[in-house]
Amino acid sequence: MRQPLVAGNWKMNGSKADAADLVNGIKAGAAKVQKAEIAVCPPFPYLQLIEGLLAGSNIRWGSQDVSNESDGAFTGQVSARMLKDFGCTYAIIGHSERRMFNAESDALIAKKYDQALAAGLTPVLCVGESLEEREHGKTEEVVARHLDAVLEGAGAKAIGLGVIAYEPVWAIGTGVTATPEQAQEVHAFLRQRIAAKSQAEAEAVRILYGGSMKPGNAMELIGQADIDGGLIGGAALKSSDFLAICAAA
Ligand code: 13P
Repeated sequence: MRQPLVAGNWKMNGSKADAADLVNGIKAGAAKVQKAEIAVCPPFPYLQLIEGLLAGSNIRWGSQDVSNESDGAFTGQVSARMLKDFGCTYAIIGHSERRMFNAESDALIAKKYDQALAAGLTPVLCVGESLEEREHGKTEEVVARHLDAVLEGAGAKAIGLGVIAYEPVWAIGTGVTATPEQAQEVHAFLRQRIAAKSQAEAEAVRILYGGSMKPGNAMELIGQADIDGGLIGGAALKSSDFLAICAAA
């Protein structure tokens, strides 16, 4: 069976002191979390601090992005190898905020996915439709395109080595969560699409839900057959909320 994963995406929030407080709070309560694997994705500059605080614990950490290049003259970028060097397990790739604000294309995201895998990181591929796309009945078309960028290129095996996060853009930071039925429908669609290439990879891959997941709605969402955990934004910034979601998984 797939072990649930609850990962906090801290986005561009907090200070060095906040990062230490948050991770110490999570560490203090993590023993009560029975089933879920826990991960945090702080901003790049805090990775070293987090590595120091979490090394030797069961809690894993990752980045919020990674370069599509391996090394060289790419000012401002951070390579997968560097992230591995700081003990990262995961790298979030293709978050909708990067697709929107940094104009990341599916082709670029596929390259990032390859870089992460090549360095031994586990990519967390984000997919999800906007409100307009949902209202026009395009949800499946959009998430299929996001998934296929990796599935058609790198293949089902590469998908099986990663994690997928379904994050409907309209649910991110809005307080409006997809209903468990809405989320399950898309998760099942994604899994079926992978199963068409490889049943084994489809059964193994974890598909997380992200978008206004909170302690109050986590259990019902993660209780759905194809929802294997959460990628948490706002609620990951308070250790008690984040731990409550981890415990619900
Ligand atoms: P919120 O939980 O704040 O809606 O953010 C979700 C998200 O974007 C996680 O990557």
